[in-house]
Formats: sequence, C-alpha cells, structure tokens
Amino acid sequence: MKPAPFDYVKPASLEEALELRRRHGAESAILAGGQSLVPDFNQRLRSTETVIDINGLSALSSIEESQDMISLGAISRYREIETSALVAEHAPLLKMAIPEIGSPAIRNRGTIGGSVSMADPGAELPACLCALGANFELARAGSKRMIAAQNFFTGRYETALDNDEILTRIDVPKNRVGFRSAFHEIARRKTGYAMCGVAAHGKVTHQSVQNLKMVFFGTDDTPMLAVNTISVIEGCAINDVPPAELDAALSEDLHPSDDTHGSAKLRMHYAKVLTRRVLAQFVSAHGEE
Ligand SMILES: Cc1cc2nc3c(=O)[nH]c(=O)nc-3n(C[C@H](O)[C@H](O)[C@H](O)COP(=O)(O)OP(=O)(O)OC[C@H]3O[C@@H](n4cnc5c(N)ncnc54)[C@H](O)[C@@H]3O)c2cc1C
Repeated sequence: MKPAPFDYVKPASLEEALELRRRHGAESAILAGGQSLVPDFNQRLRSTETVIDINGLSALSSIEESQDMISLGAISRYREIETSALVAEHAPLLKMAIPEIGSPAIRNRGTIGGSVSMADPGAELPACLCALGANFELARAGSKRMIAAQNFFTGRYETALDNDEILTRIDVPKNRVGFRSAFHEIARRKTGYAMCGVAAHGKVTHQSVQNLKMVFFGTDDTPMLAVNTISVIEGCAINDVPPAELDAALSEDLHPSDDTHGSAKLRMHYAKVLTRRVLAQFVSAHGEE
C-alpha cells in the first residue's frame, strides 16, 4: 500500500520549521527517523497534508554536557546515544535500554524525540526518561516551555505536545554519587516492543535503596511510576523485601489489560519477575564496588 499524498518540506533552520508548524498546525506532521510515521502512512493508519522533515536541523542533533545535566537534541539517533561516552558516564540507563529497541536498522534511524513524541506504551525510552527525572523542551514560533517527562505522557500515543510545537531537546540530570540504574524487559521477539519492562534508578547502599524511581512500561497507557512498590522496597533492607507485600503493591500500581499479545495476568506476572531482577541487579551492582 502507498501513503495518501502529502506536501513535503525540509526547512533549513529551526525557526523555519517552527513557522511551518505554526502555519500548518494539526494538518502537519514532523518527520524525524520515520520508523513509526512512515509505516503508519504506508498502512494508511494516518495521513497529513504537510510533512515537515527536521532531519537537516543541526540545532537538534547534538549531545552536550553542562554542569548538572546532559542535553540530547531531539533528533539524536538511538545509535548515537548508545555509543555516546557522555551518556555512558552520566546516564547509563539509556545505554542499557537502547539495545532492546527494535533492530539495528531501526536504531540507526530512530530518534529520541520521535520515541517520546510517539508515546507508544511499550517503548523503552519514555520510561527511562521518567525514571531519570528528565525535562523536555517544547518550542513554538516565538516561545519555548519546559515540561517534566512524567507530565509529558498524557495517554496511549498521547502527549502534552500542541499541534504547533516541536520537541527540541531533552535534558537528563547527571547520575549522582551512589546512584545505580537497572533495566529489564520481556518481549515476544528481540526486535519487538516489550510486553512488560521496567526502568529503575536509585541510591543503592549495601543495606537499602533510597530515592528510588521505578517506572514500568507495556502495562499501562503511559509510563507508570510504581509508587506503592517503591515504598515497600525503600521501607526495608534490600535483601529482606517481603515478596507478598511486593506483589500486592505491584497489583495496586499497575493496570495491565488483555490484548492479542497476552493476558493482563501474564503481564502482571512479568512485572513481578522483573521487579525481582531489578533488586538482584542492585544487590550485585553494589557487590562490585
Ligand atoms: C519493526 C519495528 C520495531 C520497533 N520496535 C521498537 C521497540 O522495541 N521499542 C521502541 O521504543 N520503538 C520501537 N519501534 C519504533 C521506533 O523506535 C521509532 O523510531 C520511534 O517510535 C519513532 O522515532 P522516529 O525518530 O522514527 O520518529 P518518526 O517515526 O519520524 O515520528 C514518530 C511520531 O513522532 C512525531 N515526532 C517525531 N519527532 C518529533 C519532534 N521532535 N517533535 C514533535 N513531534 C515529533 C512524528 O510526527 C510522529 O507522529 C519499532 C519500529 C518498527 C518499525
């Protein structure tokens, strides 16, 4: 099948892209890596009047460091993030997650901005960015705003982006001393979206985990911060987390549903298994010191 006809424009500057977005609004779509947009067009799940290709905008492609954070331009590709020394040092959770996204071909083209703008409930990076407390810069002609990752995802494939905005940058706080990350997922195929996954980040000592952010994906419409589960884990020594309390807390935090890939019960079982893997990873990471 071929896509419905559309006009294609490739702006030479961010200002031009924002002006195009202002003019065409809901009748436009941003083209980043094209790994979700193009299949949707080709299957006629989606159509638009004007495609605005942001791939030539160097202002959106850098990975930079400042005192407290690293800033990822919206069209930073998965492969660039995975191989970045800055990311490896300051935000290793992203490096852990990226090999689980699609196939190498998808990781060569797909972008971090495209991933979060798409807001697929099974996607890895939205959950990681929530766990890391990232902030997103959204620009429109003449103004910009920042929004916390946790507030950006508003529903299944829905975000706080307005039709005249472009996501331009993602700021990730640098890893602090003693903080550890863990990432686990279960997918039906290595190259597919997760049925259930978890991104975790917290301060780990030999006794306990504190300041924990544990965010599940594939279970709910948006990345889900597991507040009750976190409270159980933080409330006791890491090796003594009571399994029954842990499972009860997960059942309160997560709301999986049945679909063609598996039942809600199966996804909840995966969440329980993955939580134990996160705890084991925290224990072994501390043992390496
Ligand atoms: C076979 C297959 C397997 C996949 N498996 C996975 C997987 O396991 N995990 C995973 O996370 N993803 C997976 N993906 C999707 C892939 O990660 C996409 O790259 C990603 O969803 C979108 O990124 P993109 O840069 O390609 O964006 P595009 O496809 O270009 O755009 C996606 C959407 O975001 C909008 N958009 C893009 N950039 C911006 C921006 N800067 N500002 C505003 N709006 C913007 C577009 O208009 C569009 O609506 C898979 C895709 C395929 C085809």
